[in-house]
Amino acid sequence: MRVFWRCFTLIWVLLSSFTSFAKDGDANFLENLNLSSAEKKWLKQNQVIKVHPDTWPPFNFWDDTRNKNRGIAVDLLQWISQKTGLQFDYHMTQMSLDRLLKEFEMKNMDLSPSLQYQEVRENYLIYTDHYYRANFGLYVTKPSLKVPHDLNGLRISCEKSSTTSKYIIENFPDVEIVDCPTERDGLLLVSQGKVDAHAGCIEVCDYLIGGSGSFDAIQLFRELRVENDEIYFAVRKDWPELASIIDKSLQLMPVEKKNAILRKYEIELFWKRNQNYAIIAGVFVFVIVMLLFITIFLLYKRSRKAAYFHQLARQKAEESAKFKSAFLANMSHEIRSPMNAILGLTSLLKLKYPKDQEYNEYLSYITKSGQQLLSLINDILDLSKMETGEISINIEAFSVIDLLNEVFQTHQPLAKEKGLHLNLDIIFSDDLWVKSDRAKVLQVITNLVSNGIKYTEYGQVKVGCSISDQNSLQFYVEDTGVGIPEDQKALIFDRFKRLDQTKHVKGTGLGLAISKALTELLGGNIRVDEKSEGGSIFYFSIPYQKANPDLIETSSTPDFEGKPIFDNRKVLLAEDHDFNYIFLAQVLENVGLNVIRAHNGKEAIKIIQHEHIDLVLMDIKMPITTGYEAIQEIKKIKPQLPVIVQSAYALPDEKEKAYRCGCDNYITKPIDCQELFLKISLYIPQSSLIKEL
Ligand code: ADP
Repeated sequence: MRVFWRCFTLIWVLLSSFTSFAKDGDANFLENLNLSSAEKKWLKQNQVIKVHPDTWPPFNFWDDTRNKNRGIAVDLLQWISQKTGLQFDYHMTQMSLDRLLKEFEMKNMDLSPSLQYQEVRENYLIYTDHYYRANFGLYVTKPSLKVPHDLNGLRISCEKSSTTSKYIIENFPDVEIVDCPTERDGLLLVSQGKVDAHAGCIEVCDYLIGGSGSFDAIQLFRELRVENDEIYFAVRKDWPELASIIDKSLQLMPVEKKNAILRKYEIELFWKRNQNYAIIAGVFVFVIVMLLFITIFLLYKRSRKAAYFHQLARQKAEESAKFKSAFLANMSHEIRSPMNAILGLTSLLKLKYPKDQEYNEYLSYITKSGQQLLSLINDILDLSKMETGEISINIEAFSVIDLLNEVFQTHQPLAKEKGLHLNLDIIFSDDLWVKSDRAKVLQVITNLVSNGIKYTEYGQVKVGCSISDQNSLQFYVEDTGVGIPEDQKALIFDRFKRLDQTKHVKGTGLGLAISKALTELLGGNIRVDEKSEGGSIFYFSIPYQKANPDLIETSSTPDFEGKPIFDNRKVLLAEDHDFNYIFLAQVLENVGLNVIRAHNGKEAIKIIQHEHIDLVLMDIKMPITTGYEAIQEIKKIKPQLPVIVQSAYALPDEKEKAYRCGCDNYITKPIDCQELFLKISLYIPQSSLIKEL
């Protein structure tokens, strides 16, 4: 408790010292005032100065809305009070000017903040320096504009004892003066029609007219050249020290401070004077803002509408893209399935009658046509994947020499058949390992080499590779064929563009368009040059990213060429398509496997429940229960049983879906027998390998 009282006392002492400092004013300021000893003494007496509250806006007036005295003079006095410690007490009752002067005479009033000079008043007042120069004028009601210039015979109201009143009396002797206690009373008389005009301070009258609403009909008729237009603080005669302290303080007042005070009331006066315009301007601004708002709202609605239609269009485009890719996937499936049977059964027939030459020739035509059809389907599928953005890059490390050798092996027989030399131009001594999408690089080079062979009748096709700069790996395919005219060089990369000179050779005009798109996807470029000695040379480059072969895991996939023998293992072949079944069953039985057929997924599930099966070859598109559903069931019943999907669906999506369902491997129709044997051998060990298939 004692501690609390101590703290309380301490705070009290601090606060009182602060307030006494406020009363004492700003010590530095007081020093700068250079007060005389009489003034200092007077100041020390701490007199409370009685101030006259006037009805003289904007100089000194009672503001009803803020419930306090305000005005230029009031603000100046407040500042002086802060600086000097002088205490001003606003007398509560307002009084007329005439009465005020009497109060001064009787020493009942100490200070008036807004008075004009009159010699007679010097008997009981002392003026400070003036702080404002006012204007004076004559106010009339709007219709009474026929006021004579000399004001002869007019009844004019004036504040009693005011300088304006004195001025009218002296300058317009024929005017009948009607005394009024305040400027407001004078204006009231004008508005009521009791006088012809009111003479008063323009700043004050304008402020009163603008603020009232009841003086709207009154307006300034003309200005009056009142000589004593300065506004002063006036102090009772026996307090000259006070007048001097106020003067000295005002002299030390920073100009910005004084201007700020004046500006504050000038702005108020401006709004009062222009209230009507302000309302019009306000309405105008409001209308503009509303218009702006409506415009923004309409624009917003329009943009929403546009966004809606945009979204609708996008949705439609997406739907149509989905539909297109689904259509292509299905079409490709429907074509690949019979192609599997055609190519597969053709190869079986070739094996069955190896000696019949004519027979074999016809079978070769069937195989070639089938392969052409297949490559066409692959091209269309590639294009559709590119359009729908489904194509993705699969970066892996690979050997460039190995890749070029593969291209050579595949195309050598074709070149030989045409009597052309296919040359491999490998300039680097060590193998070159790089990182890129091997399948796509192979696809582009394959296309360029097969074009080279296709469009060359005599001579050679050369394929090679070099590191053109440190950042790019450049492949080239050179031929001695028909060549490509200069003006067609860019066009041949457009879809379906075929040159007239090569129209006799079969083609679709899609290969180079796909090659270009794939190259760009890999971050490279492709171009063609004509050779001076005839023929053309295609350059295809990709970003060069060196790979370290030591870090590459070698595949455990057995690599064999020939015919493996699997010992009597049981393979469940789920295949609804009879021709495909016949072909696959033949192939599988040929390598020693026992084949059991299921016509659909449901049958496949049933069989694995009742029979011992070593491997399942599962088609996807089947009636009753699809391959996807069957795999899921089989994996639930026998999780260890290997399932290889054999499907005509070739899109990555389909493969992913099959793997998600639990399949162990995937092979695309038309089935490549070697690839199939390789995949089977991952799950069933082969007992022997016969070199010739
Ligand atoms: P396709 O070969 O199926 O017609 P491509 O897109 O691969 O389609 O080629 C487009 C066209 O460019 C070909 O039709 C041919 O006119 C021309 N062309 C391509 N490669 C060569 C080449 N090596 N020599 C001459 N012309 C070629």
